[in-house]
Amino acid sequence: MSAPVFANYINGEWVEGPAFENRNPANTEEVVGLFVKGSPEDVTRAAQAAQAAFKGWSQTNGPARGALLYKVADLLDKDFEAIAAEMTREEGKTLPEAKGEVRRSINIFRYFAGEGSRLAGMMAPSERDRVHMFAIRKPVGVAGLVTPWNFPSAIPAWKLAPALICGNTVVIKPASAAPLSAWRIVEACHKAGVPKGVVNYVAGSGSALGQALVDAPGLNAISFTGSCGTGQWLHEQASRRRLRIQLEMGGKNPTIVLADADFNSAVENVANAAFFSTGQKCTATSRAIVEEAVYGRFVEALVERTRKLKVGNGMEPGIDIGPAVDEAQMKTDLDYIALGRQEAGEPLCGGGRLTGGAYDLGYFVQPTIFGNVTESMRIAREEIFGPVLAVMKAKDFNDAMRIANNIPFGLSASIQTTNLSRMYEYVYGMEAGLLTVNLPSAGVEYQLPFGGAKDSSFGPKEQGPAAMEFYSDYKTVYVKY
Ligand code: NAP
Ligand code: MG
Repeated sequence: MSAPVFANYINGEWVEGPAFENRNPANTEEVVGLFVKGSPEDVTRAAQAAQAAFKGWSQTNGPARGALLYKVADLLDKDFEAIAAEMTREEGKTLPEAKGEVRRSINIFRYFAGEGSRLAGMMAPSERDRVHMFAIRKPVGVAGLVTPWNFPSAIPAWKLAPALICGNTVVIKPASAAPLSAWRIVEACHKAGVPKGVVNYVAGSGSALGQALVDAPGLNAISFTGSCGTGQWLHEQASRRRLRIQLEMGGKNPTIVLADADFNSAVENVANAAFFSTGQKCTATSRAIVEEAVYGRFVEALVERTRKLKVGNGMEPGIDIGPAVDEAQMKTDLDYIALGRQEAGEPLCGGGRLTGGAYDLGYFVQPTIFGNVTESMRIAREEIFGPVLAVMKAKDFNDAMRIANNIPFGLSASIQTTNLSRMYEYVYGMEAGLLTVNLPSAGVEYQLPFGGAKDSSFGPKEQGPAAMEFYSDYKTVYVKY
């Protein structure tokens, strides 16, 4: 059976052309789909279409825009099971994780659909008599949305939905490793009746299309999630034109484990945050910083728990962890494991690729733990984005905080403790944008702001009410009556 072809979507039309393959990382014999390889000219045309559609869309009233977003959510809900299964096949995460993500995308669309009936502006009393003053929200214009493969549905959803509800039009460039999940959202927009040109989708290599996007006529904003290198380049380009920009990038997220923690849940939370989704969450834990008093016992229990994790094809029941997303990411994981051996010695568990039988068809890496890692080691400082955990020893809480903050990144962090004072010291002292307490460092909801600190992020936060700030601007009005 030949693989289905997924066209680009420009000005309300499906645009065919030469295609690239999207393969299943758990079974590389399976081609999930063929995606039309967009050209720089396609990006330009998509931006022109978005520019032309802006007037009509921005003048459509908010509740009417919201009604269309509710329809998008309903359409995704109708095909929920199939869309989740496709995500597992294109990205590798387990089916329960994929279902959780598609559910989140649906919820995000409904959340922002409701914003269409609010779009709250501001009003304040004037110092002058008989003057009424207020500020109304207005959209920013045309937004370029560039998304990564690791949350191939939720990240496109949490950029698209707030952009659209505020009245902007968009060009979305999905990740080449997993473009189908975003395509399904675009298809739902088409079926829901979102007017032509409001949403445009161009797949293809980011390095080939990036220049056309940052140079696109009429572009006003860029929202990017991905690696620090790409984000830095986009920022430089965007600043030439003074584009509004937000960047969500890499991390090296710590979980601090104190001796007073609920031991079993600390073990579970670290194993979950480090290894679920193959360690490919931007909020995953890659450093466990453990108080000396409990270090030996904790490491032993964590290794025992990790050895029980089942790695395999995420479509099969009982699998905890799927493959790396592609060969390049698997190679990065294995290269860092080799480096870890040089820096910290033999890993406490894992340490290689899984081979034999069905494993040979995919990019499976063993969940790997290095012990006694110290701050200067590269495996403690650089983002790996795979199932590799560095465990570090801290003398006490203050030492743990110092180690946790001693990196350029600041995306997420977690602490495992039952001490209320320590918890608040951590809340106020940790240099990260997303903090958890007695939970895994990964696993966020859409109702509150999302984003990091330090080198991990730039610009206004995403999600929750904060998303409205990036995708809208104010117009302030003074009226004498
Ligand atoms: P990436 O290589 O930077 O790719 C992200 C997106 O940018 C992809 O769509 C990519 O296209 C595109 N791209 C690449 N070069 C470009 C260019 N010159 N101009 C415009 N677009 C370009 O990152 P990734 O490897 O997909 O994702 C992993 C990274 O994302 C990790 O660092 C992770 O921490 C980060 N991440 C951060 C968050 C967060 O919220 N902070 C969330 C998820 C992931 P191609 O796919 O075609 O290369
Ligand atoms: Mg794929």
